[in-house]
Amino acid sequence: MAADFYPIAVIGGGASGMAAAIEGAGILGPGRVLLLERGARAGRKLLATGNGRCNLSNRFAEPSRYHGADPQFVKPAFARFSVEENLRFFEKMGLMSVEEEAGKLYPMPLQAAAVLDVLRLELDRRGVTLLTGTEVTGIRTGKGGFVLSCRTEEGETFFRAGKVIVACGGEASAGLGGCDSGYQLLQSLGHTITRRLPAIVQLKADVKAVKGLSGSKFDSALTLLDRGKPVQTERGELLFTDYGVSGPPVMQLSGAAVRILEGKRTATLLVDFLPEMTEEQLSPLLFQRRKLLKSRRLEDFMTGFVPKRLGQAILKLAGAAPLSREAGSLSEEEIRGCAGLLKALPLLLTASNGMKNAQVTQGGAVTAEFDPRSMESKRVPGVYATGEVLDIDGDCGGFNLQWAWSSGRLAGESAAGGQRR
Ligand SMILES: Cc1cc2nc3c(=O)[nH]c(=O)nc-3n(C[C@H](O)[C@H](O)[C@H](O)COP(=O)(O)OP(=O)(O)OC[C@H]3O[C@@H](n4cnc5c(N)ncnc54)[C@H](O)[C@@H]3O)c2cc1C
Repeated sequence: MAADFYPIAVIGGGASGMAAAIEGAGILGPGRVLLLERGARAGRKLLATGNGRCNLSNRFAEPSRYHGADPQFVKPAFARFSVEENLRFFEKMGLMSVEEEAGKLYPMPLQAAAVLDVLRLELDRRGVTLLTGTEVTGIRTGKGGFVLSCRTEEGETFFRAGKVIVACGGEASAGLGGCDSGYQLLQSLGHTITRRLPAIVQLKADVKAVKGLSGSKFDSALTLLDRGKPVQTERGELLFTDYGVSGPPVMQLSGAAVRILEGKRTATLLVDFLPEMTEEQLSPLLFQRRKLLKSRRLEDFMTGFVPKRLGQAILKLAGAAPLSREAGSLSEEEIRGCAGLLKALPLLLTASNGMKNAQVTQGGAVTAEFDPRSMESKRVPGVYATGEVLDIDGDCGGFNLQWAWSSGRLAGESAAGGQRR
């Protein structure tokens, strides 16, 4: 039996694949776009984004917030489908958005499910043929386009397509559908795939000396050092864990930390627990406390100034143990040591928490082999790639979904042969 033909087949029913299918079907009309998803449902990862609230874009999306061999690659996609244009795209589907701090954009109901719901309704309205439980295992060039081999519960099946959009995402978070399938498909077509590393991920660190802080959160400023040189500073809520550190500022600089560790260089995190204060302001304050609270035991010397557990950990690290001593006995060196540690506690980073816990993959299909104005392959005309499968990853804060929407929509539009009427 002859395989069904579709002018466009999109592989991967995630964020960028759904956007591509909607855009393509908007131009070609119903019944002409096929969307193939290996999971039981489309958009599973989307439901987990932004802690279930889906940080769907960021007002400040621009190349400097992206990483990969050529972050400028995002430019044409953002010029064609800007943040505002993507918000309009959702608005036309009935989804309103709200802006929170640092330009982060969320759906108005603050539920990722709302984003997925409107995308599904739109796929339906546009007459996209969505097949779930269908994993594309091979792409080969055939008469008038491509033949896709697919694995389903019922066995192997085939489709023919004029154009193919590879929107398979990256390897991060295998539990939510991350896999290396997209890389394999593109590689089989002659594309080059770089080494992949986790990004937006928790970091393992030598926290033995501060193990009492496990489970505690601190609003702090973190500076990442590459062999002692500062490379990135982030501010936000740091969480100490039994394996290392987590929390938004850690996630934000994790991509750079992973790259340093991958290069077998020393990566250190300096934690500033009192970012509003300089060390010059802090030391006199501690000297004053020594005078004021001289008969207090050291275990409570910092109580009322910084969280008690933090104060105790810092005093121990500054060599002031035993904490049964009286505060008045603190030496000048011990006080200066405490001030230094409160402003710059060094933590040696050892590894990331791995690809399975990462939100994003850094690395992927080499962007130089694709045309950024269309997302079409320069190696195999008629093949397009979108989203995370490409060597582009964004900062934490809505940048990755912004890239998924814009690159997906651009590929859908280009594959359909032009702009929607
Ligand atoms: C926990 C978590 C939270 C996140 N939060 C945010 C956030 O708040 N904001 C943000 O901007 N980004 C966030 N991200 C990142 C963002 O979700 C991804 O960057 C984005 O989904 C990538 O879109 P994509 O279309 O490239 O891939 P995906 O959305 O991963 O979609 C790829 C799809 O392709 C399917 N697939 C793969 N191979 C095949 C095949 N061979 N055949 C058929 N189907 C296949 C997969 O099952 C999957 O459904 C988060 C990620 C995680 C894991």
